[in-house]
Amino acid sequence: MNNELSSEDESYSTSGGEEFDAEDATWVEWFCSQRGNEYYVEVEEEYINDDFNLTGLSSCVPWYDEALNLILDCDEDEDVDSDSLASIEAAACILYGLIHARYIMTTRGQQALLEKFKVGMYGTCPNSVCDLVKQKLLPIGSDILKQSSTRVFCPCCNEIYFPKNPKLEIIDGAHFGSSASLVLFMTNPQLVNKYEPSAAYSPKLFGFRAAVSPQTREAARLALAKRSLAVELGKPAADVVPDSDST
Ligand SMILES: [Zn+2]
Repeated sequence: MNNELSSEDESYSTSGGEEFDAEDATWVEWFCSQRGNEYYVEVEEEYINDDFNLTGLSSCVPWYDEALNLILDCDEDEDVDSDSLASIEAAACILYGLIHARYIMTTRGQQALLEKFKVGMYGTCPNSVCDLVKQKLLPIGSDILKQSSTRVFCPCCNEIYFPKNPKLEIIDGAHFGSSASLVLFMTNPQLVNKYEPSAAYSPKLFGFRAAVSPQTREAARLALAKRSLAVELGKPAADVVPDSDST
């Protein structure tokens, strides 16, 4: 995640190729336009200004008041040394991530996440069957900071994958939370592409269907052990009962 504020970043090109003027941009606009941060949706200022929405976050982030002021573009008169400024900027990125995780659970946040999903911001499922229907993915994380990095979820195969883009993967999973993507898929079932059941992969061994499950592997292991023991004892395999721990 590119979270460092610097004078070099004041003017740059957005993903759309337009020149971005940091002078006219809010902090949130600036942050979301940074390379690697385009996966975040822009949280509305009105949402951040409502203290109720920030309940409990003050104990999660150092420099909370200063970080919140930075996010809301509130000018502070007091002089801050460069070390403290760097700490405040880092705290602002964490605080924004935690606010973001809450915001994308709201109706407007879900809509913003949906817009990112529609353009395939989070990639498509690498599963070969899901690839047939080009199922798009949504980010998924955890509800606790530093517990996991961001992954992507596929509603077709119900699997979680590492994102193709490492810039998404290095974002703390708590910035997306564990529920927002699931809620979006549950409330918008049309987003889940359908494919014929016959398209699903069915393992075959010499033309016969084979279920490679832990149970069948264990049965195969016991059968092999039984045959080996029978050969060793010189008895018919049917008369041998191998120890379940034997190999
Ligand atoms: Zn899938």
